[in-house]
Amino acid sequence: MDKHPRTIEDVRSLDDLILVAGAGGFIGGSLVRYLRDKGFSRVRAVDKKPLSDWYQRTPGAENLCLDLSREENCRRACEGAVEVYQLAADMGGMGFIERFRIECLRSILINTHMIEAAYRAGADRYFYSSSACVYNTDLQKDPRVRALKESDAYPAMAERGYGWEKLLSEMFCQEYWAERGFQTFIARFHNVYGPWGTWDGGREKAPAALCRKIIKAKDDGSREIEVWGDGTRTRSYMYIDDCLKGIDMIVHCDELTATPLNLGTSELVSVDELVSIIESVAGIKVKRKYDPTAPLGVTGRNSDNTFIRKVLGWEPATPLREGLAKTYAWIEEQYFDRKAGKRTVS
Ligand code: NAD
Repeated sequence: MDKHPRTIEDVRSLDDLILVAGAGGFIGGSLVRYLRDKGFSRVRAVDKKPLSDWYQRTPGAENLCLDLSREENCRRACEGAVEVYQLAADMGGMGFIERFRIECLRSILINTHMIEAAYRAGADRYFYSSSACVYNTDLQKDPRVRALKESDAYPAMAERGYGWEKLLSEMFCQEYWAERGFQTFIARFHNVYGPWGTWDGGREKAPAALCRKIIKAKDDGSREIEVWGDGTRTRSYMYIDDCLKGIDMIVHCDELTATPLNLGTSELVSVDELVSIIESVAGIKVKRKYDPTAPLGVTGRNSDNTFIRKVLGWEPATPLREGLAKTYAWIEEQYFDRKAGKRTVS
């Protein structure tokens, strides 16, 4: 680990205008805070949700409510921006992406208009948040799956809806570089979790959903939770702070221009193991009621981090228990705030 990857402050002035799209959501909202904490004075945060529904509103950021599936709004959002971080998407956990494939596919409108608007505005770096759902599903049929390396996206057989949209949007990024010399960067996130993420309402992912269920089982005394599937499906989970740091290093590494790479941990964990870790954080044991009819996704998925280690000399490393302890504490606070009638994220 003798490399010293560049980050945004090595490349930019603190008064450069940075645009974060999807800033009302989990990762976009956290990225706005990350940039403001670094001292960037002109961070433009954009989301289609009304401001009152944004998960986080960081003081000092310019907040705009715009639907970025419309071309004119993308032009307005990108005006004057030197770096653009595109995290807006209609997305959620398996429960959402298996049921709402059309909505997922329609995010292509956001990506089509945003990249063109960023290019025309004269931005010089563009980040696109892709997903491990681009990988060929045929390679993900075993819980002890071989970790996926970047070349495993082709021959393509992506996750229906959401995964195909991501793959095509990646291609846009690659062709804008190839044809127009527009510098684009693409990270394939593997499940991101942490405070300020969706934790209820149908779009939440497994770590947040399981935290919520265990908090509820503890609170109402039932000590029983429903688990989707039979508990054997495997994934890897990345803590939000690693995701933000990774995005920053990727966008400022010229070698990674137009080159999709994994951003995730390589620690493969089953749903049952995830439940056990959360139980130990919560300090209770719960009875697990398995639901094999629930949306499940691929059988196993893990990130091969050979490439990111080679290029950046770094990989996400927050221990799962540590990240889940912070996430659990935050969701518990949200849960009791909601019970008390206070406004919460969901
Ligand atoms: P999120 O749902 O919390 O945030 C996405 C935001 O985009 C939402 O606030 C939503 O209102 C906004 N949005 C949707 N359509 C829009 C539109 N037309 N105009 C403007 N804003 C719009 O999701 P997230 O977890 O923060 O994910 C951010 C990005 O990372 C997405 O592209 C997602 O596909 C990708 N990703 C996330 C994960 C993960 O585990 N969270 C994994 C893989 C990829």
